[in-house]
Amino acid sequence: MRWSRYFLYTLRDNPADAEVISHQLLARAGMIDKLAAGIYTYLPLGWRSIEKTARIVREEMGAAGSVELSMPCVQPAELWQESGRWQHYGKELLRIKDRHDREFCFGPTHEEVITDAVRRRVTSYRQLPANLFQIQTKFRDEIRPRFGLMRGREFIMKDAYSFHTSGESLDQTYRAMEAAYRRVFDRCRLSYTAVEADTGNIGGSESHEFMVLASTGEDAVAACECGYGANVEKATTGALASPPPWPGTPPAKPEEVHTPGTTSVPDVAAFLRLDPAHFIKTMIVESDAEFAVALVRGDDEVNEIKLKNALGAAHLQLASEAKVEQVSGGAMGFSGPVGLKGVRVVADPEVMRMVVAATGANRADHHLVGVVPGRDFTADLVADIRAARAGDPCPRCGRPLVVKRGIEVGHIFKLGTKYSKAMACNYLDENGGMQPMIMGCYGLGVGRTVAAAVEQNHDDAGIVWPRPLAPFEVELIALNPDVPAVRDAAEKLYAELVAAGVEVFYDDRDERPGVKFNDADLIGFPVRVVVGKKGAEQGQAELSLRRDRVKIPTPLGEAVAKAKELLAGL
Ligand code: ATP
Ligand code: MG
Repeated sequence: MRWSRYFLYTLRDNPADAEVISHQLLARAGMIDKLAAGIYTYLPLGWRSIEKTARIVREEMGAAGSVELSMPCVQPAELWQESGRWQHYGKELLRIKDRHDREFCFGPTHEEVITDAVRRRVTSYRQLPANLFQIQTKFRDEIRPRFGLMRGREFIMKDAYSFHTSGESLDQTYRAMEAAYRRVFDRCRLSYTAVEADTGNIGGSESHEFMVLASTGEDAVAACECGYGANVEKATTGALASPPPWPGTPPAKPEEVHTPGTTSVPDVAAFLRLDPAHFIKTMIVESDAEFAVALVRGDDEVNEIKLKNALGAAHLQLASEAKVEQVSGGAMGFSGPVGLKGVRVVADPEVMRMVVAATGANRADHHLVGVVPGRDFTADLVADIRAARAGDPCPRCGRPLVVKRGIEVGHIFKLGTKYSKAMACNYLDENGGMQPMIMGCYGLGVGRTVAAAVEQNHDDAGIVWPRPLAPFEVELIALNPDVPAVRDAAEKLYAELVAAGVEVFYDDRDERPGVKFNDADLIGFPVRVVVGKKGAEQGQAELSLRRDRVKIPTPLGEAVAKAKELLAGL
């Protein structure tokens, strides 16, 4: 491809809203163009990387036994009403009406559509298992679209769905999909880790996320040398060290103390000369139609996702000040579990292990000391609801956990019968009995994978494409193409590279060398072949790898072979 005939316009400056490097570089390298918040055009170079990634995904999904189809973007509301998600999905679901006032949505995911397609065709255990995938445009009206292709509103996803007659069959496919994902991300040359994950909006039992470790990742991953890894949303830990001994003798029964203006644990701990770990932190939340009280140790934070799961709630929000006063009878910031009535209390196990504690007294400017969990209050539910932190003991081996940032590029779930039951996706078993199909689903963000590759592969000058995702593999640069010797040598090399089947991008523009080199660094094709005036006269080209930019003078007649050799080493 010749630049002069292509559609490539690099930018000098970063777009004002580009916070992360992949967004900055993909925009500056002329690969993506923002149309509206979270909505991008994939310009020709960007589309090539997307297509290359999609091809890898397609090949590996096919090799793992998934069959490709393509479902519509626009989906009728009825299907979502059947699954119950029309009500529960919230504002991320872009709802639209047709000219007859019928309701539709732009698909954020396709469980409903695929379940409908399968239930109308598969009736017998003999037709199962089935595994189908598509690579297609999704729309999610994200609350904070940002980071370019990493969190768009419109984005390209590979989504696959599998249908089974048994948990073992699902497990087999789940493992096959996990292996396929590993091959995809290996082929994309990403450094990643698969971690245990929460099942979120989609529902189900087991779930793993594939995380590309990068400082700009929106997710946090707790990991251990022993191989344990989990999204912090889900991570569990071993038992924590007990709080330090209570200073002096604690009162024999709860005693109210005056603690004016101390609404935070560190403040009140300092005021009472106690350790934050001596406190019980009390959070009052509104979940679906009820209020609930969550208790964690004072040096901990509540993990809202774990809490939501423990409560079995679809939605959760902090109770307003007025509601806190109504539930606790006291002021915001001074809540505690002692004496609370008519509200569900969920306590973290670490709270119930405390020998003696301090907590809010449900009265403005007052706390209770000498509180004994189990004696002075009980919990309706004891569940792990604390947020795991760096340094906590690994749940498997006890060594300290580390917490790193990650970009979630893929997510696999065991859905179970959530959708098949709701939507009557049944089959007849060997005995003629009607059973709901057991399902799995497997998502992979194609655009996000491209962005993650840039996050992991760049330097100060621009992108350093891993060969499999590079829009083109070789950039040929003619310096001073107005000089006939240069033009002739470069044209000849270009023709030879094309003939040899090399994906070559030829910078034949009438631009200064500095501009060409800067652009070549920015767009980052793996191998560079430069023909300059002196070289052309001496029959030499200069090859280099984008990675290290070390120059390798090569006779013109050997340049094609050398370029291929360099590519083969990548
Ligand atoms: P996140 O927690 O980042 O919002 P999710 O759990 O909602 O992701 P899934 O529903 O599992 O994502 O979607 C499957 C894959 O689609 C994700 O692993 C990710 O790679 C990609 N993806 C999800 N949301 C977006 C988005 N807004 N922009 C780009 N890719 C996305
Ligand atoms: Mg999401």
